[in-house]
Amino acid sequence: MTLLFTHDAAAHHRTPPGHGEQPGRHAAVIDALAGLALDRREAPLVRDADLRLCLPQSYLDFLAEALPAEGLRQLDEDTFLSSGSLEAARRGAGGAVAAVDAVLDGAAANAFVAMRPPGHHALTDKPMGFCLFANAAIAAKHALDARGLDRVAVLDFDVHHGNGTQAQLWDEARTLFASSQQYPHWPGTGAVEERGAHDNVINAPLPPESDGAFGRAAWDAMLGRVAAFRPQLLILSAGFDAHADDPKGELRWQDADFALLTAAICDVARDCDAAVVSCLEGGYNLAALGRSARAHVDALMRAAG
Ligand SMILES: [Zn+2]
Repeated sequence: MTLLFTHDAAAHHRTPPGHGEQPGRHAAVIDALAGLALDRREAPLVRDADLRLCLPQSYLDFLAEALPAEGLRQLDEDTFLSSGSLEAARRGAGGAVAAVDAVLDGAAANAFVAMRPPGHHALTDKPMGFCLFANAAIAAKHALDARGLDRVAVLDFDVHHGNGTQAQLWDEARTLFASSQQYPHWPGTGAVEERGAHDNVINAPLPPESDGAFGRAAWDAMLGRVAAFRPQLLILSAGFDAHADDPKGELRWQDADFALLTAAICDVARDCDAAVVSCLEGGYNLAALGRSARAHVDALMRAAG
C-alpha cells in the first residue's frame, strides 16, 4: 500500500492571475489520483522543532509578519504570500515529516506528499522560486536527527535544480543529494562540479531538448552511487516540469519516463531495504502534471506491492 498525504490547505495558497504555480495544480494531481487504492492521510502542520532543524526562528518570524490578512504580498520576483500560504507550506513540510515517520514505522513501503507550494528552492532564511520551506531537506533532517537514521538519500528530478535542498545538505555527510536538471536553466546552479563538502552531492546537468531516455541514462549512473551509499531512506523531490508539454522547461520527457525513473529508484530502495517518501515539486501544464503524477504514483504502488 502506498500512502498519500495531502490537505485542502494546498489550494488556499494563492498566487497572481497567470502565475504558473497556481491552486489548480493541487486539484490536477488529486483528481489524477482519484479512485486509486491509496492509504489517504491528512498532511499535518509541521512542528516548529522540525522546521528549526533547517532554518532559524528569525525566518519563521519574518514569514508570520509578512503574511497578509487579505490580498497578496510579493516576497521576491516570483514568490507570493496570501492569507492561506503559511498553513499550506506548514502542511507541505508537515506532510513530508509525517510521511517519513509513517514509512519508518512500517505503515507502508512508500508515500507521496501532494502539497504546494513546492520546496526545493527555499533557502535557509529566504524564500525563493515559489518555495517557502525546503520540505525534502526538512524531512531528511527529521529522519536523521529525530529518528536516528545514519544515511538518507535525497533525489530530485525536477527540471529546475534543487538549489535550496543542495544548500541545506551541502555540509551534511549523512546525506547524499542526487539531482538532474536542465542546464543551463534557472536558477543557474547544478553543474557537475558542485559536489558537496563531503562529496555528498551529485549533479546531472541535462541539455535543453534532451529526452527522457537521456535523463534516465544519467539517472542510471547516479543510482549506482546512491545504491553504494546504502541509504536507509530515499526522499524524492518529484517535479514533473521536465515534461515535453511543460511551459517552464525545455526537456522532452513523456508521462512514461516518470514511471520508468520511479521504478528504477524503487528498485534501488528495495535493494537497500529502504522506504521512499516522494514530495511534489514542480509541474505547470495541468494536464501533463496530472498524467505524470499518476504515472509516478502508479509506479510507487507497484513497488509497494
Ligand atoms: Zn521546477
